[in-house]
Amino acid sequence: MKEATPQTIYLKDYTPFGWQVDSVHLTFKLAPEATRVTSRIRFTPDPAAPAQDFFLHGEELTLIRAAVDGVAVTPEVTPEGLRCAVPNGPFLWEAEVEIAPASNTALEGLYMSNGMYCTQCEAEGFRKITYYPDRPDVMSVFTVRIEGAEPVKLSNGNPGASGDGFAEWHDPWPKPAYLFALVAGDLVNHPDSFTTMSGRQVELNIWVRPGDEGKCAWGMESLKKSMTWDEEVYGREYDLDIFNIVAVDDFNMGAMENKGLNVFNSSAVLASPETSTDANFERIEAIIAHEYFHNWTGNRITCRDWFQLCLKEGLTVFRDSQFTSDMRSAEVKRISDVIDLRARQFPEDQGPLSHPVRPESFQEINNFYTATVYEKGAEVIGMLKRLVGDEAYAKALDLYFARHDGQACTIEDWLRVFEDTTGRDLSQFKRWYSQSGTPHLKVAESYADGSYTLTFTQHTPPTPGQSDKAPQVLPIAVGLLNPNGDEVVPTTVLEMTEAEQSFTFEGLAAKPVPSILRGFSAPVVLDRSSSPEERAFLLAHDTDAFNRWEANRDLAREGLVAMITEGAAPDEAWLDGLQKVIADEALDPAFRALMMGGPSQSELAQVLHGRGITPDPEAIWTASETLRDAKARRWAGLLPRLADEAAVTAPFSPDAEQAGKRALGGAVLSLQTRIDGGAAAEAQFKAADNMTLQLTALSCLVSAGRDEAALGVFERQWSGDRLVMDKWFALQIAATTPDKAVERAEALTRHPAFDMKNPNRFRATLGGLAMHHAGFHRRDGAGYRLLADWLIRLDAVNPQTTARMCTVFQTWKRYDPDRQALIRAELERIAARPGLSRDVTEMVTRMLS
Ligand SMILES: [Zn+2]
Repeated sequence: MKEATPQTIYLKDYTPFGWQVDSVHLTFKLAPEATRVTSRIRFTPDPAAPAQDFFLHGEELTLIRAAVDGVAVTPEVTPEGLRCAVPNGPFLWEAEVEIAPASNTALEGLYMSNGMYCTQCEAEGFRKITYYPDRPDVMSVFTVRIEGAEPVKLSNGNPGASGDGFAEWHDPWPKPAYLFALVAGDLVNHPDSFTTMSGRQVELNIWVRPGDEGKCAWGMESLKKSMTWDEEVYGREYDLDIFNIVAVDDFNMGAMENKGLNVFNSSAVLASPETSTDANFERIEAIIAHEYFHNWTGNRITCRDWFQLCLKEGLTVFRDSQFTSDMRSAEVKRISDVIDLRARQFPEDQGPLSHPVRPESFQEINNFYTATVYEKGAEVIGMLKRLVGDEAYAKALDLYFARHDGQACTIEDWLRVFEDTTGRDLSQFKRWYSQSGTPHLKVAESYADGSYTLTFTQHTPPTPGQSDKAPQVLPIAVGLLNPNGDEVVPTTVLEMTEAEQSFTFEGLAAKPVPSILRGFSAPVVLDRSSSPEERAFLLAHDTDAFNRWEANRDLAREGLVAMITEGAAPDEAWLDGLQKVIADEALDPAFRALMMGGPSQSELAQVLHGRGITPDPEAIWTASETLRDAKARRWAGLLPRLADEAAVTAPFSPDAEQAGKRALGGAVLSLQTRIDGGAAAEAQFKAADNMTLQLTALSCLVSAGRDEAALGVFERQWSGDRLVMDKWFALQIAATTPDKAVERAEALTRHPAFDMKNPNRFRATLGGLAMHHAGFHRRDGAGYRLLADWLIRLDAVNPQTTARMCTVFQTWKRYDPDRQALIRAELERIAARPGLSRDVTEMVTRMLS
């Protein structure tokens, strides 16, 4: 386990490594408790680098022997690595180390999952495998030999010789160590092939444990779609003879883009209609695409240092969202992305963990795999594309690939290709990478003699370490509608660069209604107090689907705020206007399903806090429930017709059309349950032939309190399927009432199938509790206490997952003094643990400061 060594690393301190690594040969003799790793690495001094000691990273390694040019040496070994005297010219470094994958529960480096060997090296896991300059700017060609009795032995690149008890692999493309991977075990493959745009044949495999072969078809289809899409849209071709994906049950993240050997959390690749929901299918499609796209944006062009993480992640998230938009509905994808951004990135940006898209310092890089780096990083690229236009974006990307292939790059390199292809000066735009916090945008309007002026002011509130903020470049997409509902000015992108700036539209016969920030063209908070009439008008007439959804969300939010703070009744006029939209069969069912939902309770807490009102989780819960009851009553006459429309008679397909219908059906069933007490849900639960229908029905039964029998039936049916049981754990917490959530979560931690060492199961149970807003924030602090107990336990086993889950406390300063005191006490209790990991120490310290 890592000891807490609060050492801060700064971007400004970057220095290149003093040597180039010409080649790496690794031999693994696999054994669960004593794997031997032999390395033979050729180093050549880099004349461009400053003079330095020869230092190799290495953690939790037992050094057996080391040699330089064949002569045994005794390096100075520390907990972080080793130092050694080396010749002035090129030399061969050899080392043999011993590691114990079976006792590696941190799931970083080489570890075991259900008897299978696998690796996770990003960000700094390779140093737990052997001594190496474990930094992304050191790239080399790897040759790997694996010895062991396991029937399947995989590594990066193309297969070489293999035989009884050994397999060799050679990766011709220079890569940093974080992209190294090794997998060995009793695995079976789902094979296929792909012919690239230049006619090369690539062998494709998805490797799974025996018994899971039937759950690979969707992943394979998604992979082939991704390969085609990247050729057609970005001109990027795959570059090895083979592409392997492996499903692993115990994995800290979703998946990892190791060169030619992607390792996936089994939840992000295995799918079947009986065991996976539509959301699972869509997520798998997106993650397979994401990891595959990294082959160019991440692997062929990688990051110079970990501060540049957004260079590969922001761009690749942007690319995978483009892919999903092309495969499914672009409008629904955009709305879903914004819901996610507001739920995960906005709280981060507005709280104690706020950091720039490119952070300038860190203690533990694993703590910076955040929504800011990933999702806001992708938003920044979306803005850049909007500002320069599609054609210029494509030209800049072509130059990026041509100029930087095989290099480890920076954000400066990335922006320079845009400057060089467009002639634009992006120095102000670059603030998006260095300035943290979410800008707030205010709007004033005036109209006289056919001339309409919008005046915007922007302001970014202070964030930790940054009190004074400079104006950002904001692409503001605006459309104007006539009072009769016709669009008079189609979507136009206004480029705002000043703190305050006006834009005038001429020749308008009447004062128009503005539709501002169409498509959510910049990741900002739009502070505009427009009238309910104007919002209802946009809900009815806006041609921009996102802003139509947004107008509805604003109405829902304002209605809920009035219910919470003034005891107002649900806004019946709004519900009637909304009913017309959800009844409109010309609209995509998936879009209508989104329109039927409201802002999350956590989002409402954020809104209230932003207006200087202390959020009361119980009052928010009650208002949300009251509103749902009102929707059910008000729309009771429409629900049966919608249920008919949502019914799917064709054989199951996870495509957007069927998934949209099932989403609409699910939204209808949850309202129907409020009328019939769960009768329809019970019928659906019994008749369901796919997981989406079964799980939706079960969720409705739990929320109606009619769950005893159904939960038991579901458990008996699926006790052998780990991924389905994760849903069973999560759902019974998510769908229950606030008074029961903590007890349920606590009882589930005593269930025989609860396993804290499995990140998916831990997240389903304790993460599930943290996501139940009113249940987690129960007045007596029982939710905080239970979570802190388990975080303390988990830290000794898996610091990375613990640190990530600690972030559920990041919004603590929103709440009342009593709750704040309770949370502070838990954070201090965690911080006081002897031997607390570096990961968790950093997170808790930042949240307490
Ligand atoms: Zn990624």
